[in-house]
Amino acid sequence: MESFLVPGIARNTQEIIALRHDLHANPELGYEEFRTSELVAKQLRDYGYDVHGGLGGTGVVGTLRKGAGPLRLGLRADMDALPLQERTGLDYASRVPGKMHACGHDGHTAALLAAARHLAAEADFSGTLHLIFQPAEEGAGGGRRMLEDGLFELFPCDAVFAFHNMPGFPAGKFGTLPGTFMASSDTVVVKVTGRGGHGSMPHLTVDATLVAAHITVALQTIVSRNVDPRQMAVVTVGALHAGSAPNVIAETAEMRLSVRAYAPEVREALHRRIVELVRTQAAVFGAQVEIDYQWRYPALRNSPEMTAFAQQVIRDWLGEEGLIAGMEPLTGSEDFSFTLEACPGCYVIIGNGEGERGGCSVHNPGYDFNDDILAVAASYWVKLAEAYLR
Ligand code: ZN
Repeated sequence: MESFLVPGIARNTQEIIALRHDLHANPELGYEEFRTSELVAKQLRDYGYDVHGGLGGTGVVGTLRKGAGPLRLGLRADMDALPLQERTGLDYASRVPGKMHACGHDGHTAALLAAARHLAAEADFSGTLHLIFQPAEEGAGGGRRMLEDGLFELFPCDAVFAFHNMPGFPAGKFGTLPGTFMASSDTVVVKVTGRGGHGSMPHLTVDATLVAAHITVALQTIVSRNVDPRQMAVVTVGALHAGSAPNVIAETAEMRLSVRAYAPEVREALHRRIVELVRTQAAVFGAQVEIDYQWRYPALRNSPEMTAFAQQVIRDWLGEEGLIAGMEPLTGSEDFSFTLEACPGCYVIIGNGEGERGGCSVHNPGYDFNDDILAVAASYWVKLAEAYLR
């Protein structure tokens, strides 16, 4: 057993892994985490927590008080899986066709439950602990819905923390940055309507396929010509659907875009320029457009104080080598960004490993959460809670 692990966690490693495999075999999509949230609530109750379910749909909060310490600490895990067909061939692979824990939220939930048990039974702290198990992190904004349902009014926190596993980084090492750590993420759906017709008589039509193609090319000028080159911005046309036959000119086309930025002013500028370009390109060809601009997740901003605190906890525990050197902001996004807008805190990544062991990207049918980092992640929660609620 690794000597740096919290002994009470290390003792239960096999049990934690078994729980993770059980969650992995039974994945549930966002807002449908009925089995998972029931399992979470039952375990928390068994450990002595006050349990509040049904927050943000299937969200669960477990509260535990020890001593007279005034501080209140929130720790978050996410519970949802993805609509993906698993192809790992593991003996605990998903038993549900078309659903898979391909982002490691099974590991996040198992690690926080393991910490919950230890924090209740053995850990030494004085204050209030709120363990937040959120639904629907994958795009559906379960974190925001918990806030709308009064998360911090019902369970006030002085600081809130979360972690996510990250393939491609050394297993069990931690990475974070003060300030902007992840990008905003917005989705745009564009519907182009022209005038359909026979493929042999293009002069009588307004070709929606051609209009969508021009829009696609024009959109690529936003990052290259409109955004300050020192800023981060992404405009991806991830889907473009039009037409069904070679001799029919399409009347409609649908495009789906993913838009990312770090700075709020860049996020605003991308919105303005996308709308202008889509409208004017369509007008050039005499087509109509409908733009559904879906503001999704803001950029994730870590509080400098809480980030310094989390980094110091890791240093005191694992030494400087516990932290990933040269960490840079990530271009992905997270709905913990809403939580951090409501309460100071820090989001860290834990390396899931590289190459064969843990290196497969999340959201890939071959991905698996690395069991080697489960006890490390649970130990981090214990160290953090004991340091914050001293
Ligand atoms: Zn995830």
